Amino acid sequence: MEKDSSDTDPVQSARDTVFAMENRTEKVADNHVDRLAGEAVAIDEYTVLTDVTIACDSCGQHHEFGAFLDNGGCNCCKESVLHKAG
Ligand SMILES: [Zn+2]
Repeated sequence: MEKDSSDTDPVQSARDTVFAMENRTEKVADNHVDRLAGEAVAIDEYTVLTDVTIACDSCGQHHEFGAFLDNGGCNCCKESVLHKAG
């Protein structure tokens, strides 16, 4: 995806940073499970999943990080917060 580097979208930047961290976490976990498999832990085929979730303290709803950004936040806060922002 091409993007003008002089005009960095802060939402896209947050997304890229967190997703890069998730990928790194998956690789580290994968390496460790790989090393332990068949010895300290019993596993055959597996997939490492990382999932950053934003839990809204106001309504208790959980949002997957990417969906949270796509949605522009939590619906319960949208009206009050976005009205303040103008
Ligand atoms: Zn909420």
